[in-house]
Amino acid sequence: MFLNTLHLWQFRNYCDQWVEFTAPKTIVLGENAQGKSNLLESVELLATLRSHRAMRDRELVLEGTEEGRAAARLERAIGAMDLGMVMRRSGRRTLVANGQTLKRQVDFLGLMSAVEFSSLDLDLVRGGPGYRRHWIDTLLVQLEPMYHHLLQQYNTVLRQRNALLKRHAKSDSSCLNSTELAIWDAQLATVGTRVIRRRARAIARLAPLASTWHSNISDHRETLILRYAPSVPMDADDPEQIQQTFLERIKQRAIAEQAQGTTLVGPHRDEIDFIINDTPARQFGSQGQQRTLVLALKLAELKLIEAVIGEPPLLLLDDVLAELDLNRQNKLLDTIQDRFQTLITTTHLGSFDAQWLKSSQILTVKAGE
Ligand code: ATP
Ligand code: MG
Repeated sequence: MFLNTLHLWQFRNYCDQWVEFTAPKTIVLGENAQGKSNLLESVELLATLRSHRAMRDRELVLEGTEEGRAAARLERAIGAMDLGMVMRRSGRRTLVANGQTLKRQVDFLGLMSAVEFSSLDLDLVRGGPGYRRHWIDTLLVQLEPMYHHLLQQYNTVLRQRNALLKRHAKSDSSCLNSTELAIWDAQLATVGTRVIRRRARAIARLAPLASTWHSNISDHRETLILRYAPSVPMDADDPEQIQQTFLERIKQRAIAEQAQGTTLVGPHRDEIDFIINDTPARQFGSQGQQRTLVLALKLAELKLIEAVIGEPPLLLLDDVLAELDLNRQNKLLDTIQDRFQTLITTTHLGSFDAQWLKSSQILTVKAGE
C-alpha cells in the first residue's frame, strides 16, 4: 500500500497542513519538538485507531480548539481509498471511509496498516506486562479487526465485574450478590477465552518469524523464544477446556478477589515472555540485546501483517535509526528496501548513507508546518 497524501487539521501542533508523499522512503527532518512524531502518530491512528503516546483524544486536538482531523489518501491493491478521522475533546470520534461515515470502528480497521517502531518500544522488553499486552492487541486489531470489538466487550465485562467486587469490598455489611457475580464470571470466561485464543494464535505465528530475525540480526549467536503465558493456562486450542479452566481459576481466587475488590484472573493479567539463550530478556538482556529483540519483533510484525493482508504495510520509524548500531541499521534498511513505504524521523541527516538519501523524499518540519 502507498500513502499518497495526509491532511492534518487542528491535529496536535498542526493547524492545517497537507503532506504529499512522493517516494517509498520519506525522511521527516526537523529539530526537537517541531511535530515529526506528531505526523507519524496521525498515520498510526488511522491504521490502528490507537496511539502509543496519547491516553485520551483531547491530547490529540490542537490546544484551544474543540476538534481535529487526520485524513489520508491511500493506494491499495484493491484501489484508492480516502480515510478520515475526526477527534474531539469529548472523546467522541467520527470515522469516514470513501465519503461514508462508519457506524462501527471495526469497519475502519484494516483499511490502512502500519507498524510503528519508536524508541519507546524498548518498554516492550523493560516495561511491565501491560506494554506487551498493548503491543499484541494492537497487532491483532490489524490482523483481524473484529478483535477490537472483542477487546471492548471483554473490558466492559471486566469493568462491571470489578465494580461489583469493589462495592462488596468497600462495604462490610453487604453480602456479595453471588447470582450477579456468577453471571459476570460466565461472561468473563466466555469472552476472555476468545481473547486468549486469538492472542495465542497470533503469538504462535509471530514466534518463528521473530526467532529467525533475531538469529539473523545477532549473527546466529543468540536464540529467541517468544512464549505466551496466559493467566489461564491452556494445553491446547480447545475453547471448552480453556473456559473450564478459566472458571476453576476464578473459583480458586475467589477469596483474594473479594478481599482486593478486583478481578485477578483473565487476559488482562496475561504475560508474554521473551527468552534469549534461555534467560528472560527483561532481567538479563543488555541494552544492545534488548534493541535487537525489539527490532526482531518489529520486523516479524511487518512480515506477519504483509502475509495476512497480502500487501506490505507502512513502516513508521520514530527516532530509532540513530539508536541502532551499523549492523542493525543495515539489517533494517536491507529489509525495507523499497518494499515497505517508510516514514522515518530524524533531527539530522548524518545517519543516512548517500544511496538512502538519494532515493528518499525529505520533508522538513518546523513548528507544525
Ligand atoms: P523530538 O525530536 O523531540 O522527538 P518532534 O518533532 O518529534 O520532536 P513532536 O512530539 O512531534 O516533536 O511535537 C511536539 C510538539 O507538539 C511540542 O511542541 C508540543 O508542545 C506540541 N503539541 C503536542 N500536542 C499538542 C496539542 N494538542 N496542541 C498543540 N501542540 C501540541
Ligand atoms: Mg519525536
